[in-house]
Amino acid sequence: MTEPLTEASGGRPMVAGNWKMNTTVAEGTALAGAVVAAVAGIRGVEVAMLPPFTHLWPVRSVIEGSGILLGAQDVFWDEKGAYTGEISPSMLEGLCDLALVGHSERRHVFGERDDEVAKKFSAVLAHGLLVILAVGETEDERDADRTFEVVDRQLDAVFLSLEMPAPSDGFVIAYEPVWAIGTGRTATPDQAQEVTAHIKAHLCPRFVQAQPRVLYGGSVTAANAASLFAERDIDGALVGGASLRAEEFAAIIAAASRA
Ligand code: PEP
Repeated sequence: MTEPLTEASGGRPMVAGNWKMNTTVAEGTALAGAVVAAVAGIRGVEVAMLPPFTHLWPVRSVIEGSGILLGAQDVFWDEKGAYTGEISPSMLEGLCDLALVGHSERRHVFGERDDEVAKKFSAVLAHGLLVILAVGETEDERDADRTFEVVDRQLDAVFLSLEMPAPSDGFVIAYEPVWAIGTGRTATPDQAQEVTAHIKAHLCPRFVQAQPRVLYGGSVTAANAASLFAERDIDGALVGGASLRAEEFAAIIAAASRA
């Protein structure tokens, strides 16, 4: 049996929008402005926006004062040096509130390994930014009944490598089944609940004292958000495609505030 939202999170669900490689700077700043307007008045939800790196600075000034958190979609683990094209955690410090690591597109399109995700996770934590760690199984792994094994492996790679235990309010887990991302095939609330509950039971108390928030991600829309958020162990959502539409993103956030 799991406990409700950890006190460390202030009991608030989180809805984070991952824009991926979409929008020009002009389109992105306009989108950010539209989201700020659309979510004004919605209370009780931690909202985050993860635009491309090139948009972080201009989007930051658009969302200033709105309470919306700004996040990077990825980060490198080292501080500086000969890593052409990479962005270090210290470059994000003072600019962003959080960074996403281990997104399935990083793992599966760019071949990122569990140990690399682990290095990124601890680098972000060390810089005092919130870190969202994405985990999830492929369709073949689910069909082979290996979902828990895969998710546990991805979690253990990160948490067993830490020199200091992670504070439960320093990170958020996003359970994102690979087969549901960008496909329109959302996991059923039962499927998502089963894995989010498993993740909490796996992490707490083995790696953290208080339960962290666990989000669901994978084709979340305004139409299916409420049924997902009604589940006990789903503490919000990581949203891709629908976060590019301000009104729909706001509707998902409103559903989280009612849950
Ligand atoms: C994502 O990018 O993390 C994601 C869940 O995308 P989508 O909502 O489009 O499936």
